[in-house]
Amino acid sequence: MRRNRKAKIVATLGPASSSREMIRRLAMAGADVFRLNFSHGTHADHKERFDIIRSLEAEVGRPIGILQDLQGPKIRVGTMKNGPVELVNGATVRFQLGSEPGDAKRVSMPHPEVVKNIMPGHAVMIDDGKLRLVCTGCGDDYFDAKVEVGGTLSDRKGVNLPDTDLPISPLTEKDRRDLEFGLSLGVDWVALSFVQRASDVIEAQTLIKGRAAIMAKIEKPQALDRIDEIVPLVDGVMVARGDLGVEIPPEDVPGRQKELIRICRQAAKPVIVATQMLESMIKSPSPTRAEASDVATAIYDSADAVMLSAESASGDFPEEAVAMMHRIIAHTEEHKLYRSLIEAIQPTPEHSTAHAIAAAAADVADAIGAAGIVAFTGSGTTSMRAARKRPRVPILSLSSSEAVARRLALLWGTHSVPTEEIHTYDEMVEMAKQQAVSEGLAKAGERIVIIAGIPFATIGTTNNIRVVRI
Ligand code: PEP
Repeated sequence: MRRNRKAKIVATLGPASSSREMIRRLAMAGADVFRLNFSHGTHADHKERFDIIRSLEAEVGRPIGILQDLQGPKIRVGTMKNGPVELVNGATVRFQLGSEPGDAKRVSMPHPEVVKNIMPGHAVMIDDGKLRLVCTGCGDDYFDAKVEVGGTLSDRKGVNLPDTDLPISPLTEKDRRDLEFGLSLGVDWVALSFVQRASDVIEAQTLIKGRAAIMAKIEKPQALDRIDEIVPLVDGVMVARGDLGVEIPPEDVPGRQKELIRICRQAAKPVIVATQMLESMIKSPSPTRAEASDVATAIYDSADAVMLSAESASGDFPEEAVAMMHRIIAHTEEHKLYRSLIEAIQPTPEHSTAHAIAAAAADVADAIGAAGIVAFTGSGTTSMRAARKRPRVPILSLSSSEAVARRLALLWGTHSVPTEEIHTYDEMVEMAKQQAVSEGLAKAGERIVIIAGIPFATIGTTNNIRVVRI
């Protein structure tokens, strides 16, 4: 079943969306990729959801991507001796290394790397930034911080340290166990939380060894500062606006979102805009106008995908949230300003045969009124290069690798299908025609533009373009 929209939907699964029936409904309503959030749930929960998704593919009639989101090194305070405490403005609080339960004056901080690296003047944001403190002094096993915006502090609340460069691996012991488990199931994408530098990605690459595509979640200012070294190493990016919006001022988030989308488009790598897109639909069957506008903005920015978190994982209206996202995307893509807005940010041309051929496919298809582009891809890069141009016509991506076909479920404007291997040019043309018809891309008499890398076994080349009539 081919989608009639370009941008894709990622839906997070959770307690509200764990039954086969609900996951099926979400896929039918428009979810293209499902996110398994390893910050919550047991391995048994995730395996059950994974198996359901895979068993649904035949019914849905296209590959469905599965994204494993690792929790990462989330910093948390310890527990409280006598329940929640009030931190009042102006008070000084000591954050003591260790796990001894704390109170309003002494909060336990079970992360030695934080105590070692924080410096006076650094911000300490707690509970998604609801509480704000500033570090005023440090010792060997503690740091002090003055409360600037007080509030209630309870057990194990999350801590964000936007100014502190933490020399920590993005993969905790739990992440390593979760990662091995996810890879043993066969997830298509692995998302790394709190990436700060290129070496974080390299560490993950050595563990993943090509068994899944790697996505960097951009949620730290340190990652923004080093984005040019991170993007070339990963297969995709998530604009993780939840933590990002705590680590940087909220007013910086929209501009950063646009920058990140442009950088990914230039690099021909898929990018997801995530978090709080339809937040009010956790409790309400319809979104606020501002939320509808937020989804549309990501679409006008030309993001590959938009994501639902709690809306689909634990909200009261998971199916309605996916259906609403589908409607907003489809409607936005029909708007008269849509093409001019996404064309306004054409990436600068790259002087390589591969990029020139992929870009030419869109121009040729436009010039001759072709029904679509058929991209043969071994690793996914030919299709990603074609999508980078954001062509008017749909891209039909054909790959003999089921894993690659599933990864590309995330890709803008692309309908991805696993196929038999091809060995000759004639087989390529035949298969392109036949799949174009069976997947509803083109009818008899219409033309398609085929792109491929030849010889077929050479991964990464895109050097051939051919126009054929069905
Ligand atoms: C985010 O912070 O926006 C995000 C997607 O990450 P998580 O939901 O894991 O906090």
